[in-house]
Amino acid sequence: MDNKLNAFVTADPAKCIGCRVCELACSVAHSDQSGATVGTLTAPVIPRLYLVKTPEVTVPVQCRHCEDAPCANACPVAAITQTHHTILIDADTCIGCKTCMLACPFGAIDLVPVYRGGKPVSQSALKVESQAGLRDKEWIVANKCDLCHDRDGGLACVEACPEKALTVIYPPKDQKRRNREAALNLLHSMKSFMGG
Ligand code: SF4
Ligand code: SF4
Repeated sequence: MDNKLNAFVTADPAKCIGCRVCELACSVAHSDQSGATVGTLTAPVIPRLYLVKTPEVTVPVQCRHCEDAPCANACPVAAITQTHHTILIDADTCIGCKTCMLACPFGAIDLVPVYRGGKPVSQSALKVESQAGLRDKEWIVANKCDLCHDRDGGLACVEACPEKALTVIYPPKDQKRRNREAALNLLHSMKSFMGG
């Protein structure tokens, strides 16, 4: 049985200063404008993680790549799949129905316009009213963290965070590390108790 659990990114609220560098880095990493930097992007910033600021906490929230993903269970056109231990949305299959957005318990999915080469892409059939008459409607699809699965160099948000507040969690590896830490803590407690 393949029991490898999906990885996910988590943030430490004690370290996050709310600078939004992670959101910018994410947006640039998922832009198709080759060689673009934060300052040269022509498309709007469209991140796949979302900084949450409340009086109590400042921290980005992103997809947890759930093992029994509610978004995938809810999608009526099977646009959401588990591929190589990552929950992915196929933009070409997505019809923008927003069901996944409602199903996600973390609010990690947004519906966003598609940009190619820095320009918005139109929907193939629908038109919308404008002052100049009917115009093409923007193509809008579901969008969320894809763990930078096709990016050389790993996760852009983790790499860019100046406070090192973001960490990729690999569940089995992380569990073994915690087991080792617990065993060592137990050993130290025993030694103190025995006066060693
Ligand atoms: S880059 Fe780091 S410190 Fe800045 S908002 Fe994101 S997680 Fe917080
Ligand atoms: S918005 Fe797209 S990905 Fe989400 S449930 Fe609808 S079709 Fe599926």
